[in-house]
Amino acid sequence: MKRILITGGAGFIGSHLCEILLNQGHHVICLDNFLTGCKGNIAHLIGNDRFQLLEHDIVYPCPIVPVDEIYNLACPASPVHYQRDPIETMKISVMGTFNVLHLAKQYNAKILQASTSEIYGDPLEHPQHESYWGNVNPIGSRSCYDEGKRCAETIFMDYYRKENVRIKIVRIFNTYGPGMLSHDGRVISNFILQALQNEDITIYGDGNQTRSFQYIDDLIEGLTRLMDTEDSFIGPVNIGNPSEFTIKELAERIILLTNSRSRLIYKPLPEDDPKQRRPDITLARKKLNWNPTVSLDEGLSKMITHFKNRIITTNRNKIEPNGFFVV
Ligand code: NAD
Ligand code: UDP
Repeated sequence: MKRILITGGAGFIGSHLCEILLNQGHHVICLDNFLTGCKGNIAHLIGNDRFQLLEHDIVYPCPIVPVDEIYNLACPASPVHYQRDPIETMKISVMGTFNVLHLAKQYNAKILQASTSEIYGDPLEHPQHESYWGNVNPIGSRSCYDEGKRCAETIFMDYYRKENVRIKIVRIFNTYGPGMLSHDGRVISNFILQALQNEDITIYGDGNQTRSFQYIDDLIEGLTRLMDTEDSFIGPVNIGNPSEFTIKELAERIILLTNSRSRLIYKPLPEDDPKQRRPDITLARKKLNWNPTVSLDEGLSKMITHFKNRIITTNRNKIEPNGFFVV
């Protein structure tokens, strides 16, 4: 049994990871300040004597808890949330990273950094291989996240080279699944909620920009496999599903799968919104023997069922015969 700290453990990805690692028999310490996470995500784990919740902000030095492994996930991930307080976002990626690395060094713990495909910016190389340095605007409204995450990778590498900390860096591509908040603001949760409520689906720009969406279970498998690799393998490694779709195609699929009456409407494209994104996962295949297994339609169907149940539970009295929530 290992003692594993998950910062951001009450968030979307963190709460799935807490559950899996508990199921594997480990002692899990979930550290979170509930900036974008919620207690509901981990409510079912509270009471398990191998689960511990620490309410703490990683911008400040971490509580001294002996640990074998750390997954550093703490950071708002949705553009809506990370742009709300960009100075805080940058502090989380820089000061927070120093604090978690300091803890790892104290206990000789292995530490994994949740980096992101955003470090490639609006990529000029396609698909994105780990060797690509990216095309990032350092002064735009996404920079607090993109540059913050790039800086976090740098700090990780310097602690590896200078302080012999055992690190792993994963670059996560767009991930979705149950556990995302309804007000998360990212595209899949927005579109599914809009479709289930027969509201207009808000496409930003012309909808020809692309993303490659991975289901949460595939990501969690990739993260734990990476943590279990030999110390000499530090990454960075892309974890994502290489099937690429335009945002318009995504909207059309969700309308079909929900049998919705929603129409597509077009809104301005946010500043520096990447035009294309698809991971090259050759390295993950080779070093982790990992491959995504959940197709977009399969993952969307699971997510739709989850959101439908959530809407039904919270709005029992306003349901149409087709099972949809009436606004
Ligand atoms: P999320 O917003 O659901 O979860 C982030 C969690 O971190 C929340 O529980 C939040 O309360 C917590 N947190 C934020 N700031 C904190 C702080 N200062 N101290 C302690 N806790 C703090 O986001 P997510 O989708 O679960 O993403 C988790 C991580 O994975 C993030 O680091 C994100 O950058 C990275 N990532 C996610 C995706 C994705 O598609 N979901 C893609 C790339 C990278
Ligand atoms: N997007 C959209 N409508 C929405 C939310 C997002 O068209 O309601 C677009 C957004 O502009 C981007 C893509 O969907 O081009 C993915 O956005 P998301 O915020 O999910 O992730 P990211 O931009 O970080 O990849």
